[in-house]
Amino acid sequence: MSDATSTRERTLDVVTEVARRLGADRVTTDPETLLKNSSDWSRMSPVLEEKVPRGRYVADAVVRPRTPEEVADVLALAHAADVPVTPRGSGTGNYGQATPFDGGIVLDLRRLDRIEVLEGEGVLAGAGALLSKIDRAARAAGRDIWVFPSTKASTVGGFVAGGSAGTGTIEHGTTTDGFVRALTVAPMDGSGRLLHLRGEDALPYVHAYGVTGIVVEVEVATEPAREWTAVYAAFDSWAAMAHVHRSLLDLPVLPRLASGDEPALVPSLPASVDLDPGRFSLRVIAEASTVAEVERRVADAGGDVVAVLDDYASCDRLSGMSYNHPVLFLQRAHPDRTWFHMETGGEIYWTDPDAVRAVYPGDVHLHLELMGRGPLAMVVADYHDEAGVLAGMEAMETLGMTVHSPHQWYVDRNVDLAVRTARETDPKGLLNPGKLVPDHVVPTRVNVGVR
Ligand SMILES: Cc1cc2nc3c(=O)[nH]c(=O)nc-3n(C[C@H](O)[C@H](O)[C@H](O)COP(=O)(O)OP(=O)(O)OC[C@H]3O[C@@H](n4cnc5c(N)ncnc54)[C@H](O)[C@@H]3O)c2cc1C
Repeated sequence: MSDATSTRERTLDVVTEVARRLGADRVTTDPETLLKNSSDWSRMSPVLEEKVPRGRYVADAVVRPRTPEEVADVLALAHAADVPVTPRGSGTGNYGQATPFDGGIVLDLRRLDRIEVLEGEGVLAGAGALLSKIDRAARAAGRDIWVFPSTKASTVGGFVAGGSAGTGTIEHGTTTDGFVRALTVAPMDGSGRLLHLRGEDALPYVHAYGVTGIVVEVEVATEPAREWTAVYAAFDSWAAMAHVHRSLLDLPVLPRLASGDEPALVPSLPASVDLDPGRFSLRVIAEASTVAEVERRVADAGGDVVAVLDDYASCDRLSGMSYNHPVLFLQRAHPDRTWFHMETGGEIYWTDPDAVRAVYPGDVHLHLELMGRGPLAMVVADYHDEAGVLAGMEAMETLGMTVHSPHQWYVDRNVDLAVRTARETDPKGLLNPGKLVPDHVVPTRVNVGVR
């Protein structure tokens, strides 16, 4: 289709047809709703705050389908008219990866919220079902879902397409490690069809920000439900806390989560128990039969057990203080300062955290998580400029650490697979434009890559 008509005009034509076929309630062009649905939590990054501020890229319409088939219909219409489509769940992504860089349609998938606990090992859910509700349904049926993020109010489609790890990761890894048993995906190839993919075939759509297809249904892995207990402990030193943190990997049943924070991060944590702001905080979701052993290890390392809470709500509360959440709480507690964070990993967190602290000038704070392969940490530091952020990244890589920058919006995992898949499933490059950056392969109309 020629550029003779603007994206906005073509979008309005498409959504008029969507409203006629599916119902007027499926479409909105209300300016406030468009603005709200065109940004995410990238405001946690001062780099992204500058590059993709709220209001710079705004959709021309929001479409809210109710069924997988409706998603396929919308995509067929958008494809015919060359209208970009950016999928969206709860909008809790960190990287601006749900920002509609080329305008067009934002596809709000939250109405696809069906949940069915299957016989056997899976739960089948619409892409828009909230992980909190999926977890509740699974627990009621005597099952635990393998993994969920600290943003448990996010959608399963958004977590699979844009997230990666969380509570459950110590044992079950990330979203690419078997959590996704099967997917139903709507491609942007003009066919109006739905693809059913199982096992490895689903991987091109996991953590791909929707550039390879819109996830409409997900089957996630579960296991028999366990009795979980929230254990709060406090230490006088990082070394003592790290010693216990590290030891948790050899418990007979792995914990579901193990988060640690320096004193500077502790006062802003919304814990249900009093936390000493002068001490290092370790919080563990431990399986009931291992709690006494965790308590013993805390005592042996010179720490104190602050609380042991054996109700599931307390475990949820503890989950809500994991991964990126302590960074957010710190930012909220100090609105006068500008912080940025880096997602990093390496045994160095157990052995020589000062080497990491030395990477950035000024105040540097560490939040620790446990993964099956070792520690993961959020490094929070004073923001000066993007060059300083990138220089620190390089220094951490030199230290042998793994580093993921939360200050970029493009697909940066399994990129070749995404590119190969998108050639077939989105030949016009209309899905979430600007997120699959190799522009020699998939054309995008904007060039906003950071590197
Ligand atoms: C404070 C804070 C803490 C966080 N903690 C974690 C954490 O513990 N673990 C973690 O992994 N992440 C975490 N995140 C990131 C984010 O919450 C997760 O990625 C989340 O699961 C995204 O879900 P969502 O429904 O909000 O998706 P959105 O933000 O709406 O979308 C995420 C991405 O997926 C795409 N997308 C959405 N739905 C679909 C679909 N159905 N099909 C195809 N593409 C789609 C979007 O275009 C976007 O690129 C955190 C974010 C914040 C702000």
